[in-house]
Amino acid sequence: MIKFLDLYNINQQHKSELIHAFERVLDSGWYILGKEVKQFEDDFAAWCGTRYAIGVANGLDALILIIRAYKELGIFEDGDEIIVPSNTYIASILAVSANDLIPVLVEPDPETYNIDPGLIEAKISSKTKAILPVHLYGQLCDMENISKIARKHNLKVIEDCAQSHGAAINGRKAGNFGDAAGISFYPGKNLGALGDGGAVTTNDDELASAVRALANYGSHIKYKNKYKGINSRLDELQAALLGVKLKSLDADTQIKRDIANRYLQEIKNDKIKLPKVTEQSAHVWHLFVVRTNDRNGLQQYLTDNGIQTVIHYPIPPHKQEAYKEWNELSYPISEQIHAEVLSLPLSPVMPVAEVNKVIEVLNNY
Ligand SMILES: *Cc1c(COP(=O)(O)O)cnc(C)c1O
Repeated sequence: MIKFLDLYNINQQHKSELIHAFERVLDSGWYILGKEVKQFEDDFAAWCGTRYAIGVANGLDALILIIRAYKELGIFEDGDEIIVPSNTYIASILAVSANDLIPVLVEPDPETYNIDPGLIEAKISSKTKAILPVHLYGQLCDMENISKIARKHNLKVIEDCAQSHGAAINGRKAGNFGDAAGISFYPGKNLGALGDGGAVTTNDDELASAVRALANYGSHIKYKNKYKGINSRLDELQAALLGVKLKSLDADTQIKRDIANRYLQEIKNDKIKLPKVTEQSAHVWHLFVVRTNDRNGLQQYLTDNGIQTVIHYPIPPHKQEAYKEWNELSYPISEQIHAEVLSLPLSPVMPVAEVNKVIEVLNNY
């Protein structure tokens, strides 16, 4: 079976360095908020090109903490609205709800699957405080137009970079187009920990300081609590392991890009719609997602031919039980995308023979 994502081999590549990092943390006798987290935050901020990177427990918390910090700073309040894509992984939307703000859904561009800037302004009200674009599957949103709208209406821009580590235009990376960004280091993401992890990146001193405190019980100074915070920290251990993997992230992305380019050039089948790439550097291929009318048929055919695939995602957020209040609403572009998408195997450790086979099997469908 060709695996959808071979996490075992992805991490085995770094086995001796990971064990070495584990031993360093074990032997340090210090496991929370120490020099490993500090080092990784500095390295990750430098890699991103942002002034700050603050390690947190996971990507969802990163987004929750950004919004919460803006509330503590008096910029957002309960009942304010944030524009979010209707076509996203639900975490982007949960981060808004968790803060008692209102997510306002906007449909995607049917070609890129990312939020359609042309549909945003119609959804802006006197309560709108921010736009939360998600660089879905690893491809940057149309940040030029999103930023223009944000400036015109005085809105914050919070990027969901959980899938887009290093996606760039003219050398400017994801996380540098808005006021703050939430990053995930979930094991299957482009930079994945051996467990949960996340980060907030920003250039804003005040926001960085508030996020850092909120993630640590609302405290800047031990036993002095400025906010009613939470505990959402990146572990020393995960930080040390991520530091090992960060070093090969750019090389890994290039391998994925090369495989994606082979898929784009060599998969030739009228029944399969390939993804649209706006610019080479703007896509880091967290996922290679194709579309087809008979998605279940294609998935079964690939399974029968020894190729594992995954659906990202089968049910749109507005059709989830968690958002019962939206279940009767209609977002037809998102619904169609959710009904047709299928993610092909793609990873930095995928052997050439497997890439060849995926292409051949798809061309025979
Ligand atoms: C993975 C993901 C998240 C959440 O990250 P976790 O680390 O799993 O909490 C948020 N948004 C998007 C788009 C994601 O893909």
